[in-house]
Amino acid sequence: MLSQPPMADHHMHIFSPEAERILEIFCRKLGTTKCPPTISIKASTGQRAVDALDQAGIERGVILSTAYFYGSPEVGRLGVNVAAGMRRENEYVVGEARSHCGRLVAFVSLDPLSPNALDEIAYWSRKGGATGLKLHLENSDFNFRSPRQVRKLAAIFLAAKHARFPIIIHLQTRSLDYGAKDAEIFLKEVLPFSSGVPVQIAHAGGEGGISSHTLSALGAFADAVTTDPAATANLYFDLAMIPGSALGTGNLPPPPDQLADLEKLMRKIGINHFLLGSDWTFPSDLTSYYTQAKAELDLKAEEWDLLASNHAPYLLSGTEVNGTCKDPTGGAGQ
Ligand SMILES: [Zn+2]
Repeated sequence: MLSQPPMADHHMHIFSPEAERILEIFCRKLGTTKCPPTISIKASTGQRAVDALDQAGIERGVILSTAYFYGSPEVGRLGVNVAAGMRRENEYVVGEARSHCGRLVAFVSLDPLSPNALDEIAYWSRKGGATGLKLHLENSDFNFRSPRQVRKLAAIFLAAKHARFPIIIHLQTRSLDYGAKDAEIFLKEVLPFSSGVPVQIAHAGGEGGISSHTLSALGAFADAVTTDPAATANLYFDLAMIPGSALGTGNLPPPPDQLADLEKLMRKIGINHFLLGSDWTFPSDLTSYYTQAKAELDLKAEEWDLLASNHAPYLLSGTEVNGTCKDPTGGAGQ
C-alpha cells in the first residue's frame, strides 16, 4: 500500500468481453502506436478495479467506458452496429460501477460524430446510474479544424450540461500539429456550451507522456486561466500516464526540460486543478504506478500532498449519482 495514497484515481478503464474482442481488432488495425502492447485490453470487472484500489489504499475510482471505440473509423469499417455496441458497453460499465457503489463511479462514452451521440446522452440522462460522459477525440478522428465537427462537439457539450453530466475528454486529435491552436478552438467554441459543468481534460491535454503537443495544448489552457479565470473555473486536468515512463507504455522518461515546462504550467494553472489518474486496466498495479509517478514528477512535497488529496467535484456528492445509488454499502439504487 502507498504511504500517502491518492484520495481517488480519476481515470481507470474496464472492458467487457465484447469490448476486448473489438479492441483487439482495433489495435491490430492501428498498430502498436495506438495500443501499446504493455497496456492490457483484457476484459475486466468492477471488482478487479476495486481490488486494485484496495491494494494501493485508494478510496475511490472513476471508471471510463471505452464505448467510443465503436465510433472510430477503423471499427466503423468492420460493419458492426455502432449504436448497439456503444449502448451495451456503457450498460456493462455502469452496471459494474453500481455493484460497487460508493467506491466506483462510471462515465459512459460515445463518439461525438456518430449519429447516435445525442440519443446516448438522452438515454443515460433518463436512466441514471452514470456520473458523467467520456469522449476520446483521437479515437473518433475528430478534427478541430473542421467547423462542422466543432459544432457537433459543442452540441454534445450542451446536451451534457442539460443532463448535468461532467465531461472527461481526451482532447488530443490525430492532427500532426495538434496543440495550442486546437485547445484555443476548444476553449472558444466548445467549452462555453457546458458552462457550470466540470470538464476534465485527460492526460493534461495530451495522450499520455509529455510531448511538445501536450505542452502546447496545456500552455493554451494556462493562458486562458490567466486571462479569463471565470470561464475556466470548472476545468480540471488529469495526469493519467503523466509523466509517462512509469506506466507501462515503454516510453523513456521525459527529458528534464519538458518535465520542468510541465510543472511550470501546472503551477500557472494551479495544482488544485490537477487530478491524479492512472489509465488503469487490469491487471496493472497502482502502487507501483503512483510510486513511480510521484518520483518522476518530483514536485515539492506540499504540492504532491495537494495533488493526492484533490478530487473532482463530481466525487464530492458522495455516493449520490444523479439520484441513484444512494446506499453507500452498495445496495440498490433505482
Ligand atoms: Zn484512458
